[in-house]
Amino acid sequence: GPGDPELLTVQAVKALRRATVALVDDLVQPGVLRYLKRSARIVRVGKRGGCASTPQAFIHRLMVAEARQGEQVVRIKGGDPFVFGRGGEEADALRAAGMAVQVVNGLTAGIAGPAAIGVPVTDRRHSPGVALVTGHAQDGGQGPDWAALARSGLTLVVYMGVARVAAIVAGLREGSLPAHTPVAVVSAAHTPRQRHAITTLADLVDTVAQQQLASPALLVVGEVVRCSPRAALLPAVQQVA
Ligand code: SAH
Repeated sequence: GPGDPELLTVQAVKALRRATVALVDDLVQPGVLRYLKRSARIVRVGKRGGCASTPQAFIHRLMVAEARQGEQVVRIKGGDPFVFGRGGEEADALRAAGMAVQVVNGLTAGIAGPAAIGVPVTDRRHSPGVALVTGHAQDGGQGPDWAALARSGLTLVVYMGVARVAAIVAGLREGSLPAHTPVAVVSAAHTPRQRHAITTLADLVDTVAQQQLASPALLVVGEVVRCSPRAALLPAVQQVA
């Protein structure tokens, strides 16, 4: 789940209780680990905290090695393991090594984060759907086509986007998304450090800088942001585009 241990699924809790070894990412809140057996070994494989990131191949090898020694391995990630979570790659690597794998879905931050401030991402009065996109291009790869997304009419939920907010705004404006389009930024949703801002595309870069809204954070772009009870200060109609 996105943070709060109360948002774990029953399946997740059962898997945690069975585990003898847990490989844990940074985004996982400490309260989640309370469901592990006391005897379970915890291995932190996160990418934050100033340490060099744990290479993905190392994580794969470690899971396989532990399982081969008879351990019951649980891999704990933030949100849903298949939404920007590398869960697909990890499951592939395990299956290739002949391991039995169970994937336990979780509540993705891209849905639960907006909901934490009252934003329903597919509210039919405002939008025909939602696109979950990364703001962070793969090494050497291309990022999303922001101009095309701007023209899609979908609510946009951008993961890993706060550090690249200027480029994202420029791309969306290129696709003619109006400057007055509402945008919410939700940081550390469903954790004790949750913070948010509600602004417009025109003011987004300044808002993120002034309010120091840092990762992990989501951008929610679209008229659905007006559904938030906290959006009352947004101008209803603005003349400048
Ligand atoms: N698998 C995760 C996403 C991992 S990618 C999921 O389904 O939620 C990491 C990005 O997710 C962060 O950069 C941020 O954009 C978002 N994120 C994860 N947890 C978050 C939280 N509690 N609040 C806001 N954004 C979060």
